[in-house]
Amino acid sequence: MSETKEPFKTLIIGSGPAGYTAAIYAARAELGPVMIEGMQPGGQLMDTTDVENYPGYPEGVNGPQMMVDFRKQAARFNTDIRSGFVTKVDFSGPVHKVWVNDKEELEAHSIIISTGASAMWLGLENEIRLRDMGGGVSACAVCDGFFYKGQEVAIVGAGDTAAEEATYLSKMCKKVHMLVRRDEMRASKIMQQRVFDTENIEVHWNTETVDVLGENGVEGIRVINNKTKEESTIDVTGFFVAIGHKPNTDIFKGWLDMDETGYLLPKPGTSKSNVDGVFISGDAGDKVYRQAVTAAGTGCMAALDAERYLAAQGIH
Ligand code: NDP
Repeated sequence: MSETKEPFKTLIIGSGPAGYTAAIYAARAELGPVMIEGMQPGGQLMDTTDVENYPGYPEGVNGPQMMVDFRKQAARFNTDIRSGFVTKVDFSGPVHKVWVNDKEELEAHSIIISTGASAMWLGLENEIRLRDMGGGVSACAVCDGFFYKGQEVAIVGAGDTAAEEATYLSKMCKKVHMLVRRDEMRASKIMQQRVFDTENIEVHWNTETVDVLGENGVEGIRVINNKTKEESTIDVTGFFVAIGHKPNTDIFKGWLDMDETGYLLPKPGTSKSNVDGVFISGDAGDKVYRQAVTAAGTGCMAALDAERYLAAQGIH
């Protein structure tokens, strides 16, 4: 087994499906990978219930359980998994530098980025205030739905996440108001159908949220129909936001090529970034597919690309 000492051969930033898969491949190739777990160890799947589309689990699997399995598999091959959050990087030299929690500086010959993406918010003053005080605003139905058992809630968004979470909430809440800003949904047909087939989900088309009401907890929302311009209040005690995600790539600004929304741009057909020895995997570089299985696939690509890069550099 290879020894793990600085500069590390491979350092992995982030611990979702991409990071763990990269770790499994890198560890089995004796690259002695060190993984910095990041803000949400396990990544977005920690906020999910049933995953039914990951091959190999014919009965489906619970998201957090799947990440426990990924972690165990990475640890089995001696990945050095460390808690902490990478706050700064320096990719100017042949050996790359990263800072963990603003203080600890680590060096590595190759870096695999698997920092994923985070939930987006509407940005309304009361939405953020109530979110920060734990007052009934959430971006994770699976984490927080339980608190609204038997109550009325609202969810914003019309993608697969919103459809999935509305369906999830409908099982425990009295009624779910789904606020869709256009007259159609972006969600896949099968997910939309689940919403339409659920009696206690009411879809409000062409509807936008103007304000979240309540001092210490959500008491209602103010909405506007953007066609008729009619405003109304819906009495709810929980407000869920499911409007997409932002890639966690701010620390790479100025070093790595990214699009206008911050998604990293790997060279087509590879995991290579514009910096030698820095590889991109998972949702941080994928605004199109964003699935656990595609993240895992690109994690594998990044580890294989890192292995070839290190071999070409004569680093064994
Ligand atoms: P998406 O980007 O697909 O959808 C975001 C939704 O939020 C859109 O309907 C968008 O509306 C709406 N929205 C954005 N901003 C606002 C706003 N300010 N006010 C109101 N509505 C807003 O994100 P998702 O998180 O739903 O999905 C991300 C990816 O993950 C997708 O590829 C999806 O297929 C996948 N996914 C798959 C699942 C599965 O297969 N089980 C489960 C969950 C996600 P508009 O349409 O008008 O732009």
